[in-house]
Amino acid sequence: MTSKARVRIAPSPTGHLHVGTARTALYNYLYARRHEGVFIMRLEDTDEVRSDEHFTEDIVAGLKWLGLNWDEGPDIGGPYPPYTQMEKTDHYEQIAHKLISQGKAYFCYSTPEELEALREEQKANGAAVRYDNRGRHLSSEQVEKFRLEGRVPVIRFKVEEERIVSWHDAIKGEIQIHTNDIGGDMVIVKSSGIAVYNFAVVVDDVDMKMTHVIRGEDHIHNTAKQILLYEALGETLPVFAHVPLMFDMERQKLSKRKHGEAVHISKYRKDGYMPEAIVNYLAQISWTPADGKELFTLEEAVPCFDLDRVSKSPAVFDVKRLDWFNSHYIRSLPLSLITDRALPYLAQYDLSQYSRAQLEQIVSVVREGLTSLREIKDASSFFFADQVIIPVELAEGLLKKESSRNILNKVCESLAVFANEAEPRACKARVEEIGKELGLKGKDLYWPIRAALCGCTSGPDLGATLAILGPDRIKSRIEALLQHC
Ligand code: GLU
Repeated sequence: MTSKARVRIAPSPTGHLHVGTARTALYNYLYARRHEGVFIMRLEDTDEVRSDEHFTEDIVAGLKWLGLNWDEGPDIGGPYPPYTQMEKTDHYEQIAHKLISQGKAYFCYSTPEELEALREEQKANGAAVRYDNRGRHLSSEQVEKFRLEGRVPVIRFKVEEERIVSWHDAIKGEIQIHTNDIGGDMVIVKSSGIAVYNFAVVVDDVDMKMTHVIRGEDHIHNTAKQILLYEALGETLPVFAHVPLMFDMERQKLSKRKHGEAVHISKYRKDGYMPEAIVNYLAQISWTPADGKELFTLEEAVPCFDLDRVSKSPAVFDVKRLDWFNSHYIRSLPLSLITDRALPYLAQYDLSQYSRAQLEQIVSVVREGLTSLREIKDASSFFFADQVIIPVELAEGLLKKESSRNILNKVCESLAVFANEAEPRACKARVEEIGKELGLKGKDLYWPIRAALCGCTSGPDLGATLAILGPDRIKSRIEALLQHC
């Protein structure tokens, strides 16, 4: 009988939710759902200096916003807070002591100064920087002496030299790493008593019965270290799957230093990106469904996701491409949902002047041209403006013409057609008629009307614009303009 898949995302709360972490979370989530397994969220908070509650909140909010809800937590009954590591400090220490009692780990009293001197010496000799395992064989007198000096030991795990650690990676295939490249006996518990990542992660993955460890390729070396720990603890290895890294368009790593907030999910959330677009974009960045489809929802990805279709090659994060997905979702998600999401971006306008149905109409006409919902504020500003400001060149060039004044007068005479709740098509038809009456068409006909109503010559569908603005706004805007012509 095969056991149910159990997978996890294990971010450290030392930064905001990174787009790479979000993609790894997504692949874990999809794997769990596809195999009717369990998806877990564990915060790896053992870095006391850099961990911050603010980052925890950002990560939790970001994953939830993307719809990547996890299935378990330290409490009974959801919605679950994530598992954390800091409350397990004693447990990790106990296990480290077990390794010591089995002769697989030891207390190491080397001071930071000694280690620094060793590193310098190795560098000067052109040798690889590594711990030389000098603390393995201390006599009890030496230990006593160090204790009296006030040295507080770390716990190091003995790394077997001259051996190759190998595994079959579910994405990368066969991987081999020589233990000589691991850096010598490794610290598993710091002198503060806090377990280091490579140790805590193994203990937790064992405790939580993880069947698969799906994570970024930057952890491949750590996996070799962790395999040694699994073996020492007598535990079965999970399946490892390393997701390729994501680079920018210049093949540089996506880093906060180079890209600032553009590597954080929270930025996209603030800027009015749709979670559906981010999920779709990130899913397909290193994975292609068998049917080759490009556009799909989270739910649609579940039945087709598997690790064997995840690419081995590095991925490229291209914001322009993400924008394309975002425009698609802004245009195609239900209007009422997009309106709910758009309203916070319009908060500085007097929204009460329109009914909910009219606000939906505004969103409906404007959303066609948007890349992100943040843009809706400018794109729809003329609907809310008390006065339309027309650029001087436009006012002088276009509106000084007699034909323009004739058109605008005729629009004003037709207000009954543009009465509240008018049909956009009827409004447009009336404009066409005016054109026929005056022998004008194309931009000679449309531009003066658009300029008067919107302050520019391009914009959303004219019929819909007239219908939404309604007779009072149309009249006051045209009159204000005619006074100046
Ligand atoms: N805390 C590690 C990270 O954020 C987790 C790696 C893993 O999944 O084991 O990269």
